[in-house]
Amino acid sequence: MASPAAKVMIEVDSKWEAVIGLEVHVQLNTRTKLFSQARNGDVTAAPNQNANLVDLAYPGTLPVLNLAALTHAIRFGAAIDGSIARVCSFERKHYFYPDLPKGYQISQYSQPIVGAGVFNLWFEDGQTKTVRIRRAHLEEDAGKSIHDWLPDSTALDFNRAGTPLLEIVTEPDLHTPLEAAMFLRQLHALVIWLDLGSGNLYEGAVRCDANVSLRPKGNKNLGTACELKNLNSFKFLKNALRYEFDRQVAVLSTGASVRRETRSYDPVSGSTRSMRPKEQDRDYRYLPDPDLPPISISETTISEIRSNMPELPATVRDRFLRNFNLTPDQAYRLTLEKPLAELFEATTELCKDPQTTANWILGKVTAIRKRKQSRAQDIPISARQLSQLIERVKDGTLGFNTGKELLGKFWDTNQDLDQIIKTHDITQISDRDQISRWAARVVEENEELIPKLINGEEKLYEYFIGQVMKLSRGKANPQLVRQALQRLVTMEDKHNSSENLD
Ligand code: ADP
Ligand code: MG
Repeated sequence: MASPAAKVMIEVDSKWEAVIGLEVHVQLNTRTKLFSQARNGDVTAAPNQNANLVDLAYPGTLPVLNLAALTHAIRFGAAIDGSIARVCSFERKHYFYPDLPKGYQISQYSQPIVGAGVFNLWFEDGQTKTVRIRRAHLEEDAGKSIHDWLPDSTALDFNRAGTPLLEIVTEPDLHTPLEAAMFLRQLHALVIWLDLGSGNLYEGAVRCDANVSLRPKGNKNLGTACELKNLNSFKFLKNALRYEFDRQVAVLSTGASVRRETRSYDPVSGSTRSMRPKEQDRDYRYLPDPDLPPISISETTISEIRSNMPELPATVRDRFLRNFNLTPDQAYRLTLEKPLAELFEATTELCKDPQTTANWILGKVTAIRKRKQSRAQDIPISARQLSQLIERVKDGTLGFNTGKELLGKFWDTNQDLDQIIKTHDITQISDRDQISRWAARVVEENEELIPKLINGEEKLYEYFIGQVMKLSRGKANPQLVRQALQRLVTMEDKHNSSENLD
């Protein structure tokens, strides 16, 4: 198999251009389901614990729209500058599946809640690209068929049935697997930023279908697309599209045409395989759901929701770039998650050093967080603690490494940093005389190594510095230690050369 780098080359070099449009399903984090009072989104529940009679499609039950889900959809619409429908309606989309007991899914077809909008995709070098959003509509999730639980049969869990989904459909404006993956990442970030859903990819809270076709470069007409189903990670999306690009190039190069079909991606082999021919809309026999009359949404409701929108990531990013002199990449990474952006801004407010704050947050804070697998909102470091840490490292009270260690050690304690420094006696030692005495002792104990040190063996220097640090129980300022050692070595050197003259 070609390496990923080689594949990127193909994307760029070949005479074919990829055309990609995504359909992203986002599970909304409302308290109850889209059309029933059953509890929504509790992943710890026992199977079927949160499925009520409506979710199970008992005869005579009726759906009642959850207005919180509608509000979520409108909030998303406002964030992408989309048109919000004054009247939206629900249709039945018919298909058979064992985990869909009604025999149809309630979805929106002719009058979706959100119409055309735009998403400004941001690249790490500060460039942007507009991806048009065609629509975003509400629909219900299906239950789950579990094939590996019982030895000879399939188990059905309806906890997920009726979970509100927002399906976001893009125009085919994306042109490389990497671009598609970046779009999904940033859309995912927006969903969490707006608190629409957990965004937990592993639990399937964001799922993506990718439509991809090829066309000769320079051609404006669209080729025949395949639909790749249920890609639930950025990497899977990227890899599935890469594989599919190569496959379609191979098909088209022989003069054959690509079949319009639905394909699934297997992350283990990294390949896609045909599942079925792609359905047409008419196969679903859409019809207005007679149990759910069209919903009118007043201007007042819409403007109220608009006025309660938080500052959007793109706006915060622009502000960071303008006010704090960050690189585009720093601004991008600090605004992928709201809690990070807030920590950055609050810390900068206190310590007045945006560059150092950005480095700490994107460096050590991010590293520890990854190790502890904590979500951004669970980072226990406060702006006050972080700014104290930054100030103590800057004024030399703490060595940089001690500072980094402290952050890890006191990650969960919410203690006052100055207090910690006092109780644990970890103030950095910058007393030059004291450091010189330690350095002299180390030099004396390692006399035989001095000629090598004079010859400038860098590794040996590190060893000497390490020895002094040990004597100081880790508290000496490493820069001063190096200086003291350098001074001593120069003296030895001079001493030796004058001896040779004798
Ligand atoms: P379908 O009706 O077959 O589901 P749609 O027109 O509804 O197709 O589009 C579904 C998704 O597929 C959209 O995201 C759209 O941008 C994308 N899409 C449509 N046609 C193409 C194409 N020729 N190549 C790539 N993507 C496409
Ligand atoms: Mg469609």
